[in-house]
Amino acid sequence: MIKKKEFKKPVKKDAEVVVKKAPPSIAPVRGMRDILPAENPWWDMVRAKCREIAVAYGFEHIDTPVLEETALFVRGVGKYTDIVEKELYSFETLGGSKLTLRPEGTAGVMRAYISNGMVNLPQPVKLWYEGAMFRHDRPQHGRYRQFYQFGCEVIGEDDAVTDAQLILISHIILKELGIKATININSIGTPEVRTNYRNALISFFRGYRAKLSEEDKKRLLRNPMRLLDSKDPAMLEIRAEAPQIVDWLDETSKMHFMRVLEYLDESNVPYQLDPYLVRGLDYYTGTVFEIFPEQEPVAPGMPEEAGPIALGGGGRYDGLAEILGGRPTPAVGFSLGLDRVVSHLKTLGVRPEKFPREVFVAQLGEQGRKKALAIFEELRKAGVSAGEAFSKDSIRVQMDVANRLGAKFAIVIGQKEVLDGTALIRDMDSGTQEIVDASKIVQEIKKKLEHQV
Ligand code: AMP
Repeated sequence: MIKKKEFKKPVKKDAEVVVKKAPPSIAPVRGMRDILPAENPWWDMVRAKCREIAVAYGFEHIDTPVLEETALFVRGVGKYTDIVEKELYSFETLGGSKLTLRPEGTAGVMRAYISNGMVNLPQPVKLWYEGAMFRHDRPQHGRYRQFYQFGCEVIGEDDAVTDAQLILISHIILKELGIKATININSIGTPEVRTNYRNALISFFRGYRAKLSEEDKKRLLRNPMRLLDSKDPAMLEIRAEAPQIVDWLDETSKMHFMRVLEYLDESNVPYQLDPYLVRGLDYYTGTVFEIFPEQEPVAPGMPEEAGPIALGGGGRYDGLAEILGGRPTPAVGFSLGLDRVVSHLKTLGVRPEKFPREVFVAQLGEQGRKKALAIFEELRKAGVSAGEAFSKDSIRVQMDVANRLGAKFAIVIGQKEVLDGTALIRDMDSGTQEIVDASKIVQEIKKKLEHQV
């Protein structure tokens, strides 16, 4: 055996000493991860369902850049939000541009609506997006620094039916994937309502200043509504006595909210009113909601008090277009956290369908391999899903792969079959084999597959 020390011995090369050292391995960035082929069938299933429902409801696909001007998020999401204060991945380019990796999708979609003059299209404009988002948050269960969202936005419409329909869509997507979801909902009214409510909150929480953490004292000054989001048990107790925004709503906001709830009742979407739901982002107006699994199973190794985690959220953001330099434009949207949806489906034991390989194309010898390549493509064009292991020589190894893929038949082409213009069809269950004319192989296989069902 070679001892480590001997192995690492410097190799003398002329007068120079060369030390061979393996370069250190590189891990993914903290809070970010690889989504491997073993997990991707769940992701594909979730993405396909999101697209299917969005398209059925008349949404069109939009992709916006992952990088935007930092100002978009500072103005759009809000200066005094957790996202902007603590979680942005921002940097300055060599050319001096201040850029940020998008922490969410809505601000970019609204920016695209304005920059591309979509205001001139028939309104409302209904868009869906899907992609990676980045937040420099503390990584924990269900919280990553790179995560994925699917979202739908309806821009240019203020009717309450739109708010309800978006909630319904998020609910349907989850339901058809196998997740029973419930909605927490609230209305945070107009900016004027919020100014009055903020003042009421400040007076209320001032009475409890001594009990507030330093962080919460800062929040009280800058963005008192964020105190309602707090998970701190002491704060939860104080919060129970705090004024509730519903009592401050103006008549129009109240009527709008009532209509949203009526539509939800009509659509049988389960919801509960949550007076403390204000959402962390500044751009919301009126309806705000979050989507939770009906019974959140506690993930293995997680303490029960970890609590349910939201699968998605959204709301109305009538003020955003103007903040970003556009005309006043009502809008509403939601996003689903795909990492959490996938993880929840796995906890529930939902399994994605496997792509079945009905046939396996096996070959022997160089001529056989060449013919097999052509037959594989003929099968694919004819809509027969086939498997192969063209780089393998051994027929036994190829049959092992065929079994692993669950193929019902194998087509075997060797030197002899190439010369005769034939192919062998092997029934993988019974082991019986049949010689067929190579030019009719696709028809023969299709016939056999039809007889199977
Ligand atoms: P938000 O608009 O911040 O509520 O985000 C919408 C949804 O995205 C949340 O309900 C989560 O499902 C998901 N989400 C937000 N932040 C993260 C994160 N750091 N990691 C994983 N999923 C997230």
